Amino acid sequence: QIEIEELAKEFGASRALHPVSLSIPSGALIALLGPSGSGKTTLLRILGGLEFPSSGRVRFDGQDATDLTVQQRRAGFVFQHYALFKHMTVFENIAYGLRARKRAHRPPEGEIGRRVNHLLDMIQLPDIGARYPSQLSGGQRQRVALARALAIEPRMLLLDEPFGALDAKVRKELRQNLRHIHDSTGLTTIFVTHDQEEAMELADFVVVMSMGRIEQVGRPADIRAKPASDFVRQFIM
Ligand code: ATP
Repeated sequence: QIEIEELAKEFGASRALHPVSLSIPSGALIALLGPSGSGKTTLLRILGGLEFPSSGRVRFDGQDATDLTVQQRRAGFVFQHYALFKHMTVFENIAYGLRARKRAHRPPEGEIGRRVNHLLDMIQLPDIGARYPSQLSGGQRQRVALARALAIEPRMLLLDEPFGALDAKVRKELRQNLRHIHDSTGLTTIFVTHDQEEAMELADFVVVMSMGRIEQVGRPADIRAKPASDFVRQFIM
């Protein structure tokens, strides 16, 4: 369970997040939905430890996690523009996080190989381990980015507009792929999107944001049936 308590963030004089509170059940698939500048990315980055709040607390399973580093949080990240290493094969990209560990925590190569192959199966691209990122489509690269995020056995998966750079057909495929990964790993998964259809179709719970505030949190069907404000009603249309 992830708990956010009165979390706020200022960049100089500008407020990216007003104090927001939110409770995320373990294993849920959550969308942070809102227009550009509503604070979604800031909230995601604070959850992952890439950014620190101006005030407020974050708790994981009751333990204060506000000051933990990215590594200590074990967050798996996927960004809009796939940050795959161009000079490495798909296999090497996925294995990177494991091979980069200190010796005492590094699994043996045989184990790394098994894990990478398992992840290639999970993203439904079993045969591409030897290819380079330049030989893949945009959708395939994003699936490799997902596998790479999963390789470190993260506590949670954090995705910032993961499908934002892809065309509509590929976005649909990737949604199914993310659903499949979520269902088979049971990982708490939080993704940022400005696409209401994507949020409403994919997420168990949607967090609707506007101007640094949370407007509504709920299951897609409940938000549709009972939008909490005019903003939400218009945004989810
Ligand atoms: P987008 O989809 O455009 O990224 P968003 O909903 O994710 O929007 P944020 O990126 O969280 O919104 O930005 C919220 C506000 O905080 C914006 O007004 C933005 O300009 C500001 N902001 C975000 N990061 C920084 C930063 N590093 N320095 C200064 N201002 C920032």
